[in-house]
Amino acid sequence: MRIGILTIGNELMNGRIADTNASFIAREANQQGWTVEAIMSVSDDFTAIKDRLDYLLSLTDAIICSGGLGPTADDITTEAIAKAFGLPLYMDENVLNYIKDIFTKFNFRWVENNVKQAMFPQGAEVIPNARGTAPGFCLPINGKLIFVVPGVPAEAKLMITNGVFPALRKHFPQEELYIVKQTIRTFGLGEAAVDDRVKDIDFNSLGVSIGFYPVFPENHIVLIAQSNHREEAQKNLQQAQDEVTARLQNYIFAFGEQTLEEVIAGILTAKKLTIAVAESCTGGMISSRLTDVSGSSNYLERGLVTYSNAAKISMLGVPAEIIEKHGAVSEETARLMAEGVRKLAGTNLGLASTGIAGPTGGNKEKPVGTVYLAVADSKQTVCRHYAYRWDRKRNKEVFTEAALFLLKNFLEGKHS
Ligand code: ATP
Ligand code: MG
Repeated sequence: MRIGILTIGNELMNGRIADTNASFIAREANQQGWTVEAIMSVSDDFTAIKDRLDYLLSLTDAIICSGGLGPTADDITTEAIAKAFGLPLYMDENVLNYIKDIFTKFNFRWVENNVKQAMFPQGAEVIPNARGTAPGFCLPINGKLIFVVPGVPAEAKLMITNGVFPALRKHFPQEELYIVKQTIRTFGLGEAAVDDRVKDIDFNSLGVSIGFYPVFPENHIVLIAQSNHREEAQKNLQQAQDEVTARLQNYIFAFGEQTLEEVIAGILTAKKLTIAVAESCTGGMISSRLTDVSGSSNYLERGLVTYSNAAKISMLGVPAEIIEKHGAVSEETARLMAEGVRKLAGTNLGLASTGIAGPTGGNKEKPVGTVYLAVADSKQTVCRHYAYRWDRKRNKEVFTEAALFLLKNFLEGKHS
């Protein structure tokens, strides 16, 4: 089923309010498996409202409108819709009594223009409003449906969920639809590069849609499969996932909702390994992320912030000559930091970071964004050098992610 959304009000057109009703309706409609064909906003204007309704009716099976149902002169939605289809207005006595009761109950002074909220285009069915005075309505037009709810978001949401959607499901019965999703979490490739690698996959013929969501510094891919049969939806989703996995193998660290530190926690725990961390440019962020996982005391022995050269020398045993010769930001220093903290803590693994987060401290040879990350066990030490280009905060975040990613690959034997 194709849905059109029309939000009505001058305050939307002049940017005074954000259109949260439209995004709510769109989200919920998608959840039902319906296609949102168009989202439009329009001012409180008779001609403009008619024009947009005609356009949306040409595209869709049903239109959901919000706004302009109040008693004031600028609320013209009901009248505009009646006029657009040449329908007279009728007064609903039950609604009028309901509104009058509310006024009595709350001791509001009755003003005659409240009658307006009990008027509906001929043929319309009332949709009750449990949170306010203005009810909405459903108007059938040539086999299609036009729904109208008030603009006030709390009222609109409730009426859409309890009134509009059940009516739509009844009027346009559809087979049971199964929607299954999978999130694929990647790191190390930009959004465009991820897209480029998967663009030859024929998602359409699988009935699967793909979405790209950058969650800095990661890129998440969301696959959604729809089918009238649960097994088919699951099978198609799995096939799409396999195809994506084949193309992004080395960049994927998790499927579903697992974080990178949770994946690492799983591996360290399963292998009964311990780790110690020595951080310079990441200032403790690596340890912080490792300790975001409950039970991290089982594998994290300690995390040191060895920020100064003196700390690297005295605590980690990095020889002063090495720092003198190669610099604190160097492969040699990173390796010795990882080995040093491992030895100091007596753990299976050592992980280290040293780099330049910026904005100062860079030079031509080692610009801002340069980082050396190293991981060591009893047999070997692996170091990686990266050059990022973000501001200080983001550089620290991406350095941290890269360190964890290196650790994960090392643990899986995928670092060579
Ligand atoms: P009322 O009886 O309160 O006048 P109404 O149906 O006439 O209800 P509007 O006057 O259009 O609704 O809007 C009421 C309030 O609801 C607006 O002031 C605005 O804050 C909010 N609103 C209206 N439309 C939207 C929308 N599309 N998204 C989010 N908020 C909205
Ligand atoms: Mg109003």
